[in-house]
Amino acid sequence: MSFLDERINAMTVDVEDYFHVSAFESVFTPSDYKTLTPRVGDNTHRLIDLFNEHGVKATFFTLGWVAENCPDVVKRIVDEGHELGSHGSNHKRTNTMTFSEVKEDIKRSKDILEEVSGKPVKGYRAPSFSVDTSNEWVFDILVELGFEYSSSTYPIEHDLYGVPDWPRFPHVRKEGIFEIPVPTIQEKGKNIGIGGGGYFRLYPYWLSSRRIQKYMMDTEQPYNFYFHPWEIDPEQPRVKGAPFKSKLRHYVNLNVMEKKLKKLLKDYKWTSMQELYLSK
Ligand SMILES: [Zn+2]
Repeated sequence: MSFLDERINAMTVDVEDYFHVSAFESVFTPSDYKTLTPRVGDNTHRLIDLFNEHGVKATFFTLGWVAENCPDVVKRIVDEGHELGSHGSNHKRTNTMTFSEVKEDIKRSKDILEEVSGKPVKGYRAPSFSVDTSNEWVFDILVELGFEYSSSTYPIEHDLYGVPDWPRFPHVRKEGIFEIPVPTIQEKGKNIGIGGGGYFRLYPYWLSSRRIQKYMMDTEQPYNFYFHPWEIDPEQPRVKGAPFKSKLRHYVNLNVMEKKLKKLLKDYKWTSMQELYLSK
């Protein structure tokens, strides 16, 4: 066992259904959601089972929509000692809305999550890491609404999100909120995203694990990982009409995710963001 195995990291889940994802935003609108059968409740229950089997506490950044439609799973998250955070209301990206729309969206999700769970919500993750140089005022909104931290920035070059020259490590922003970026490593002067999700499904486990270890060797900062309940659901309906690239990213290696995840839960130590970053 090396010293890396003893380091504690943060495990996070963005709780949304397959039809909420940005990859399919050209296919489904919020008014379609009620015509679709939710799968996020069952998938999240399976994840809680998996975390409990491995003795892992996690942070669940959850949509207001999920609290409205699957309240039992939101109650179970807090009843079993995990952390409940907000992922907005309907997964609309913050950089496609005005200041007042974003404020309304985040406030509505915080209110319903707190009402259903009976616990204060302190953490927020923007849908698709959609905070960039065009809408840094999202952080002012978070401070105003009483959030303690955010995990909404991804310092990489990517076609859908990210600001490559933003800080790579957790920091207090000028608005006064603690921001925990998605982890990156540097290769040939470029930041490479190693935070989870699609990259973790796409690459072999040994490569992801080697990159996590490189991050841990480079910094004393804890590593943090994110993924989604739909990523452990290979049986989910196949969406017609979405762009080819979106479908490729969404469906690649869904059938191996659970196996990889179990290995990740065994190989490293994990807890929630609240516990790891804010309980000192
Ligand atoms: Zn999301």
